[in-house]
Amino acid sequence: MLSPTGAAGAAAIVGGGASASAQAPSLLKPAPPASELTPDTALQLLREGNEAFLRGEQTSVLTSAQRRLDIAKGQTPFAAYVTCSDSRVPPELLFGRRLGELFIIRNAGNTVDTVALGSIEYAVAELKVPLVVVMGHESCGAVKAATQVVTDNAEFPGSIGPMIEPIVPAVLAARREEGDLLDNSVRANVRRVVKQLRQHTDPILLEPQRSGALKVVGAYYDLDQGKVDFFDLP
Ligand SMILES: [Zn+2]
Repeated sequence: MLSPTGAAGAAAIVGGGASASAQAPSLLKPAPPASELTPDTALQLLREGNEAFLRGEQTSVLTSAQRRLDIAKGQTPFAAYVTCSDSRVPPELLFGRRLGELFIIRNAGNTVDTVALGSIEYAVAELKVPLVVVMGHESCGAVKAATQVVTDNAEFPGSIGPMIEPIVPAVLAARREEGDLLDNSVRANVRRVVKQLRQHTDPILLEPQRSGALKVVGAYYDLDQGKVDFFDLP
């Protein structure tokens, strides 16, 4: 149910309160700029946003004119987000985040190729995001296609085959696990990409991870429940 708790919550929901302080992050307030957040506080913002999403606290002012004008001067997103192109997993909605708060890289199967890697490096080096999240999801079509390559020697037309190739090793690893092959493959694919980003040898990603300024975490989104499970935390 949509029921803000107490006066502070109510003020936050309507965007009122000139000095609504930094505690109790509200979906209607911009997140602090990346420079004011640690990897863990950035992750906490996402956790709280998803909890609000689960409570049905979707905002209708995600794109206020003032906010648009404010961030036209420059962006300070607090997380880079790698996820699937699937129409059911838009990060801003799942976390109740506003314009200018998430730097998003999307492709079917949430893999990281050179273009995606460069985008992540830009977010870290130039925008100083303290957090990179790699999120897979239930019933992912791209991962399912990769499982069919492994189990049925399936072939896919056009560039779809090459696109899902990087997912195949995750399926091969998941095949050794108990349980549902597709679900296990989705998580294995996330773990592979997280590992790729953690072990990437370029200092752009390596140095901030060593100093504690950056964390890379994995996540899994359950389509029916709407819940994001953060896993593979460093
Ligand atoms: Zn997908």
